Amino acid sequence: MPKEFKDFLNSTPHKFTPEQDELLRKAFELAKAAHAGQKRQSGEDYFSHARDAAIILGKIFPDAITLSATLLHDVPEDTKVTLEEIEKELGPEISQLIDGVTQLGHVRMKNSQDKFYVENLRKLFIATSKDIRVILIKLADRLHNMRTIEFIKPEKQAKVATETLEIYAPIAGRLGIGSWKDELEDLSFKIVFPKEYAETKRLLDTELAGRQEGVKLMEKNLSHTLRTEGIKYLEITGRVKRLYSLWKKLQRYGGDLNKIHDFIALRIITKSTSDCYAALGVIHKHFQPVPGRIKDFIATPKPNGYQSIHTTVFGRDGKTFEIQLRTDLMHEEAERGVAAHWFYAEEGKPDTIGRLSANWIKELQSWQEEASNPDEFLESLKIDFFRDRIFVFTPKGDIKDLPQGSTVIDFAFAVHTDLGYHMMGAKINGKMASIFDELDNEDTVEIIKTKKEAVISRDWLKAAKTHNARNRVRHYLVEHDRGIIQRVRELKLKDLSLPRFFRKK
Ligand code: MN
Repeated sequence: MPKEFKDFLNSTPHKFTPEQDELLRKAFELAKAAHAGQKRQSGEDYFSHARDAAIILGKIFPDAITLSATLLHDVPEDTKVTLEEIEKELGPEISQLIDGVTQLGHVRMKNSQDKFYVENLRKLFIATSKDIRVILIKLADRLHNMRTIEFIKPEKQAKVATETLEIYAPIAGRLGIGSWKDELEDLSFKIVFPKEYAETKRLLDTELAGRQEGVKLMEKNLSHTLRTEGIKYLEITGRVKRLYSLWKKLQRYGGDLNKIHDFIALRIITKSTSDCYAALGVIHKHFQPVPGRIKDFIATPKPNGYQSIHTTVFGRDGKTFEIQLRTDLMHEEAERGVAAHWFYAEEGKPDTIGRLSANWIKELQSWQEEASNPDEFLESLKIDFFRDRIFVFTPKGDIKDLPQGSTVIDFAFAVHTDLGYHMMGAKINGKMASIFDELDNEDTVEIIKTKKEAVISRDWLKAAKTHNARNRVRHYLVEHDRGIIQRVRELKLKDLSLPRFFRKK
């Protein structure tokens, strides 16, 4: 076995079967040969990018099929080797995943002023992926690109980092992959908001320097308390809030770090859930809790599956400390999210991974039903309804999110009311079309306007599917009728204003 491949296998925490080893070896060799001679801007061999993306993914989702697809993810687009050849060599499952990644690569952020643009782009991103594994590959790909972003041109850096901050990091968060979300956020924060990044870092470093001793002492006090009370735990670690999430929080608290209780937290990892609650009781007995700061995400997990108990207590120095209690399994899931969940649930049952992936939107839906806080509920709702949604582009590249079965009329009113009222015809993907035509996912629609008001008939009402378009059309029709009645009335009034003798027979 060549050393490079052996190192690759050793980089994942998983022992593959000989068949899986063989599959990975074939994918590895094929990708390496296909990219031969190509260099990255860093001067490294291009293949090192695909390999390192697979190493990143392998740490949280060591699935041989998915990792093979990751190794080959840039091959059809950037080399002479086609998707068909990959399918012939490695089978349809791997080639379909690669195809999904390629398609997802075409979902790009533009400079849009539309206030729903980012949210719609996130939805489109997920709708395009269809398979959870495609998103995992794309996120690993982006994480590696962000880690090596210093090698690309500054203008391009800003674009990639903004897209990462707006689209990729929130999706990693939605899937509960905390470790990826944190890293994606901080890597892009530095590029998108360099001044704010530097300020936040300086603020945090200064504060940390002043508190280091206090944190160490608190850690000692906690472990002493837990041991003397006979509570079992695996470890206590300190964690410092990540810069991007700290900055976001600081904005909500007027920049005052003293108001943020959780910028330093101590994490207690236990073996069992009951040990978590036992530890919580003992901690509250010995350290005075700050009222209203206990959050039990074990009883009520966050929509993305996150579980832990958070509490804030006063230390012996009078300063507050957030304490997070979780089991080692919960910790694992907080870092790896959906990847940990599905992989462990389905290990040994290879055929169910695909089925679960197809159903993953439903999974998100059921998480959302468990959401405790109304804001979280709304947030997660936004992402679930794309099952029966389509995403349609304006000529400028803005995205409109519409229910399935929507027509050109719905689209026009979704872009702008005035556009609907002046619509005469339309082009779908550059071809002339009727305004009554149904739209498909990812159509680009151009509305042809008249200078005058459009002639709106009752047929429009039949063709409109969205509330918005139907209301606008109905409003027009009512006004239109009222206008006629009004004119008739005016005519009658004029009639009435005639001298009496003319009216009388
Ligand atoms: Mn790539």
